[in-house]
Amino acid sequence: MNSPADPLATLPLRDDLRGMSPYGAPQLQVEVALNTNENTHPVPADVVDAIGERVRSVAAQLNRYPDRDFTELRRALANYLGHGLTEQNIWAANGSNEILQQILQAFGGPGRSVLSFVPTYSMYPLLALGTGTEFIAGRREPDFSLGAESAARQVAEHAPAVVFLCSPNNPTGTALDLDVVDAVYEAGEAHSTVVVVDEAYAEFSRSGTPSALTLLEGRPRLVVSRTMSKAFALAGARLGYFAAAAPVADAMRLVRLPYHLSSVTQATALAALEHHESLLATVEEIKTQRDRIVAELAALGLTPATSDSNFVFFACGQDAPTLWQGLLDEGVLVRDVGIPGHLRVTAGTEAETTAFLTAVRACLHRE
Ligand code: PMP
Repeated sequence: MNSPADPLATLPLRDDLRGMSPYGAPQLQVEVALNTNENTHPVPADVVDAIGERVRSVAAQLNRYPDRDFTELRRALANYLGHGLTEQNIWAANGSNEILQQILQAFGGPGRSVLSFVPTYSMYPLLALGTGTEFIAGRREPDFSLGAESAARQVAEHAPAVVFLCSPNNPTGTALDLDVVDAVYEAGEAHSTVVVVDEAYAEFSRSGTPSALTLLEGRPRLVVSRTMSKAFALAGARLGYFAAAAPVADAMRLVRLPYHLSSVTQATALAALEHHESLLATVEEIKTQRDRIVAELAALGLTPATSDSNFVFFACGQDAPTLWQGLLDEGVLVRDVGIPGHLRVTAGTEAETTAFLTAVRACLHRE
């Protein structure tokens, strides 16, 4: 696996890391970047001011470590989520990637496995690798859907320590029915499986799609993970969080690094929560653009999947790398997630969406 050109080849790396590639969504300087499912709307001015004020107020105490248990932030997150949650049910970390890593550090690890259903979020196998947890790639239907019966059967078959259910699923965009979550939890009961529902995109769900937060009551090993990177338009702040029974949140103290959430991060997140209505005001506009992408791609003869998220996964009816390059030549960066004949595009502003659709038309005409 190690070519002589591999600069890491001579290092005493762990055997299981040899020849591996890091997570690498390209960070290219392009006019229209629609490849990492960010909220492309800038942070509103009132929130910029509030973050500035909050951060300023902690700056003079940056000589001290932050509140290790970030109690004020946990309380604010519990209030934001509702569902009768308190700060004891909440945990937070530097992005939901770190949340998922800490869950595997606590409940996965050597000799244990994590099951997820592919295609799904590409970081899950990498987080498994980094924590020494075996990754089991569960199966979906050919149309990428996942039913309760199939999911439960696979949980029973593999008896994993942890299951990651991504809902809405990245990269396909569709939310899971709660009966799938329920069936997976039931099937894992016998093995005390921890079931994590990664709801990074939940705020963009079509109306009537309930959150797995509604299932927390009475399920002591169910975890619902969220992030401020998407709907909150704060990917740069790095704040992810989860809601679960209090002992699950408590268990994270065993694996987190001391003071993992900086005072600046806590101050930023508190300001964001105080102004969540202003931050979340773009969600409806993004959903409108998402629905526009689905309708217009279908009208062009492509096959977009139903989306509950701020992105659209579509079958492009041609070689995906060629269309990806064609769009890039038009100044629009989308994501080739490595699934033959498919691409994924983030719903941005109205102007960005127009640029994307114009570029698609130009590429299709060129064929
Ligand atoms: N879960 C899913 C499904 C994602 O798509 C992403 C980001 N692409 C994350 C988690 C991680 O996001 P963050 O670490 O920024 O919270």
